[in-house]
Amino acid sequence: MAAIVLDGKACGAEVEAAVSARVTLLKAAGISPHLSVVIVGDDPASHVYVGAKERACARVGIESTRIDLPDSASFSEVVSVVERLNSDSSVHGILVQSPLPVGMDELAITDLLNPAKDVDGFHPENLGRLVQGRADGLVPCTPAGVVHLLEWGGVEISGKRAVVIGRSRIVGLPVSLLLARKGADATVTIAHSRTSELAETCRNADLLIAAVGRAELVKGDWVKPGAAVIDVGVNRVEDDTRERGYRLAGDVDSEVADVAGYLSPVPGGVGPMTIAMLMQNTVQAAENQQN
Ligand code: NAD
Repeated sequence: MAAIVLDGKACGAEVEAAVSARVTLLKAAGISPHLSVVIVGDDPASHVYVGAKERACARVGIESTRIDLPDSASFSEVVSVVERLNSDSSVHGILVQSPLPVGMDELAITDLLNPAKDVDGFHPENLGRLVQGRADGLVPCTPAGVVHLLEWGGVEISGKRAVVIGRSRIVGLPVSLLLARKGADATVTIAHSRTSELAETCRNADLLIAAVGRAELVKGDWVKPGAAVIDVGVNRVEDDTRERGYRLAGDVDSEVADVAGYLSPVPGGVGPMTIAMLMQNTVQAAENQQN
């Protein structure tokens, strides 16, 4: 039996349509939601992601500006850009694209963001609200997108056993908190690079979230028949048959489609959800700042 595809493009398009309606209301009240993206250096993947975010802003009517700093930019230059955006009342959302150049302290920059404009949801105040189980912060986009995609696909979360592979502050930890919190009510196991018996742990899962960054790590015999599997990974795998010399692969092997009940594809799964949730956070930030 082939798994039902959890189509992040279709789900993300619905989220964006709802965002668009909220943008229209804000504009009628004289507020133009505005996202500023700061990109430091010329990491090619970062430029692709930022381009996708700018196109999404255009689709939903959010104004976007992009501030490009060279690879050689100093920490204090990045700080002064963030401080300027913090105090610019026409900017509602600020995103500093990761990764920053080697040696630049990403957490220190995150700490400086105005939490009300932290549309990535990584500021300690926003992550802290998530830990407190509060719904009034900005929730990290990829984790929010994972949970929304499951709900949209009609996957039962409450009372289910979830295994999250990965414990990063960007994906693994926040998605674990979202799945376990009151209202979602999954029983969550967090697996990571030191987990022994990873395959066996995964086989217990009704919901398996792979956020590892290892191409095709999760095999068919790691998956409980009928489980819902969300593939967060985006990995480049060398492939001489492609013009660009590589193909994109998730953390989940294609054979999982024969075992799982639901599966999110790569590309076209979590990627578009992340962008849609960024749009949602930006309109939310603009609404909050209006009040
Ligand atoms: P990360 O490197 O910060 O974290 C990876 C996690 O995987 C770590 O917690 C580590 O302990 C765990 N891990 C590593 N090797 C392991 C192994 N062999 N077995 C079990 N656990 C292992 O990465 P991240 O930022 O959390 O991203 C994870 C993946 O998700 C990457 O491929 C990234 O590109 C992708 N990602 C996609 C989106 C999207 O929008 N689609 C967004 C963010 C991240």
